[in-house]
Amino acid sequence: MTTVNKNRTLNNKGLVIRQMTLMGHEQVVFCQDDATGLKAIVAIHDTTLGPALGGTRMWNYKNEWNALNDVLRLSRGMTYKSAITGLNLGGGKAVIIGDAKKLKNDDLMRKFGEFVNSLGGRYITAEDVGMETRDMDILREVTPYVTGISESKGGSGNPSPVTAYGVYMGMKAASKYKFGSDSLEGKRILVQGVGHVGETLVKHITDEGASVILNDINEARLEELAKKYNAHIALGDAIYNLELDIYSPCALGATINDATVHQLNAKVIAGAANNQLADEIKHARILKEKGIAYAPDFLINAGGIINVFGEIEGYTKEESLRKTENIYNTTLEIFKLSDRESISTHRAAFDIAQNRIDKHKKNKNS
Ligand code: NAD
Repeated sequence: MTTVNKNRTLNNKGLVIRQMTLMGHEQVVFCQDDATGLKAIVAIHDTTLGPALGGTRMWNYKNEWNALNDVLRLSRGMTYKSAITGLNLGGGKAVIIGDAKKLKNDDLMRKFGEFVNSLGGRYITAEDVGMETRDMDILREVTPYVTGISESKGGSGNPSPVTAYGVYMGMKAASKYKFGSDSLEGKRILVQGVGHVGETLVKHITDEGASVILNDINEARLEELAKKYNAHIALGDAIYNLELDIYSPCALGATINDATVHQLNAKVIAGAANNQLADEIKHARILKEKGIAYAPDFLINAGGIINVFGEIEGYTKEESLRKTENIYNTTLEIFKLSDRESISTHRAAFDIAQNRIDKHKKNKNS
């Protein structure tokens, strides 16, 4: 009986390596600890440009395969995010399986930190969903390979305001391309998800005079922020049919999918959420055909990684914001390349990032 189970497990691992090969991953590490209940996966996608940096997400995944898929997809996204942003970093990500509200404690975080430390700096972690700056401080007790620690401890703190600033820059560039002006004054903008990033974004666009509509599953927060920013509220799936200038997904991934892509009635898409396109190739192409200007998520939400990279390179918050501002120029470049080559903006951004990695690999080997 044991042998059968063993073989089954081996077969499943075979699938993991096949998937790693398809997606180009270098290493995937499974971590388990009885004493703390830790179950985690660290995925290192590509270290050509530098150590694999990417946040740790703690989420109550339905099963291990969902967790594995998430970490493989997210770590790959980090490779391209850093490459297109011009950072000398590779792509990695970690997931801890479980409900952060119930299972997260300092011992579990320390144990996770020991696993990160055992990778000797090939993977550097940071904050993601289910994590807080305080958790990064705990990890720092057992490993130097962590960013996003408290400002009071010499770190760069919460990256969300810088992420929001980058999304704002990407949104303005996409507007310049689509409307001929980057002013957001009077533009009808739906922000889906008003959490850490979403709220700061709402502040930027409200200050510029946009007409803002908010959507979130947290209705109490929705009411509070609608009052604070004099914004409208929209609920449920009907949001995808709304006539909008800009749709800004700032909650979850895959909101642009087979069900929504043909309903969308926005002229521009520019938001913070990772992996907004359920199918990167198909849905990016449909958006291009529909004339919807899609600002690639992994480019315009890179402010956070620019900010944490400052911790490694030793630059200031002002410098992070200055580097983040450049997302505006890169977004415009992507739209131009997409038109010139008749390819989707996602493909254009991906090609630029892959070219940078390939060039670096060639130089290394020559
Ligand atoms: P957050 O958890 O603070 O906020 C997310 C918000 O979305 C919450 O208010 C939540 O209630 C809402 N939400 C969840 N499910 C929803 C749904 N189905 N419909 C509408 N609203 C929903 O997260 P955040 O830090 O603001 O990040 C937002 C997104 O941006 C995430 O996808 C994250 O991966 C991505 N991102 C964040 C950063 C960063 O620096 N925080 C960097 C890069 C990318």
